[in-house]
Amino acid sequence: MYKNIVAFIQELYQTKEFLPLHEPRFIGNEKKYVNETIDSTFVSSVGKYVTKFEEMVAKFSGAKYAVATSNGTSALHIGLKLVGVDESCEVITQPLTFIATANAINYCNAQPIFIDVDRDTLGLSPLKLKEFLEEFATLDADGNCINNSTNKIIKACVPMHTFGHPCKIDEIVEICESYNIAVVEDAAESLGSYYKGKHTGSFGKVGIFSFNGNKIITTGGGGMLVTDDEEFAKKAKHITTTAKVPNKYEYIHDEVGYNYRLTNLAAALGVAQMENLQLFIEKQRDLAKKYNNFFKDIEIEFIKEPKNSQSNYWLNAVILKDKQERDEFLKYTNDNSVMTRSIWRLMNKLDMFKDAQIGNLDNAEWLEDRVVNISSSVIV
Ligand SMILES: *Cc1c(COP(=O)(O)O)cnc(C)c1O
Repeated sequence: MYKNIVAFIQELYQTKEFLPLHEPRFIGNEKKYVNETIDSTFVSSVGKYVTKFEEMVAKFSGAKYAVATSNGTSALHIGLKLVGVDESCEVITQPLTFIATANAINYCNAQPIFIDVDRDTLGLSPLKLKEFLEEFATLDADGNCINNSTNKIIKACVPMHTFGHPCKIDEIVEICESYNIAVVEDAAESLGSYYKGKHTGSFGKVGIFSFNGNKIITTGGGGMLVTDDEEFAKKAKHITTTAKVPNKYEYIHDEVGYNYRLTNLAAALGVAQMENLQLFIEKQRDLAKKYNNFFKDIEIEFIKEPKNSQSNYWLNAVILKDKQERDEFLKYTNDNSVMTRSIWRLMNKLDMFKDAQIGNLDNAEWLEDRVVNISSSVIV
């Protein structure tokens, strides 16, 4: 059976050479725009492409403001700071995510709390979130959400749209609002994904996207923070550019800032990639349809977009019967030049986060043993 899967994928991609999991595609104006920045000498953090890229992403995602950053992790770090996360706080997120989500919480010296995902979305479970808050949280006189088991403030919640599939973000936002918890949406993987017709990343106070080399579009390395809050946008721009106060001659910085700005060189690539984003999404949705038909016939579960949502199908994935079958599948495909990868090790099992508070993680643990990503480069 694994042999048939490898043959099917090789047929899709028309190659028997080594097949990476997700390669970028440069089929548009990438070279032209990048060369323009070189010719103009504006390769660094000032230049027209940074602004243009921000405008394009804001428009596409339906956000009022977008601030380009050096990568998705730095956007997440700044997003958490904007909503006031510091060392006195805790931040709820899911254990089934890429390490950047948990790292960004740690950069703020805050503690993560890991709450389970839903089996159908692979994203944070509103039901498990509600159960956790009902058991442990109360609002104090100042309206802070206090975790009664630690006496710390639960300041923010970071749901993540796994592989581009939207989680039940409207329910999560509603629950968080009732506990005064700010939602920072990790939409790093879900540019081009919609929940109930609204773009992911636009539900929370802040959303972030990533343009790392393996994402649906890339700037080499890059990220974007999106928000409808003008003050947040101004502050984000300020602290990602070393908190420098505008002045003709002098270097004056009014707080500790970060060198987190995206370069014009990278943004030039981003603008060219944005011009093809819609095409890439259509191709990804086509590919997912083909996978779905194929796996239906051989009775392996292919992960489909959840109810009420439209996914960019950034990274395709299947669910194997158990861990043993998963390991066999991983070995066979990788031995035969088709790169596949298991889903992430749960955050709470990693050394750095092993002491974090956790809820019941049945779904995350079940998925951890079974989910495998399969070839997902855009077929152009
Ligand atoms: C890619 C990704 C990020 C950000 O990654 P960068 O490499 O820093 O751009 C954050 N969260 C998730 C879930 C991701 O997949």
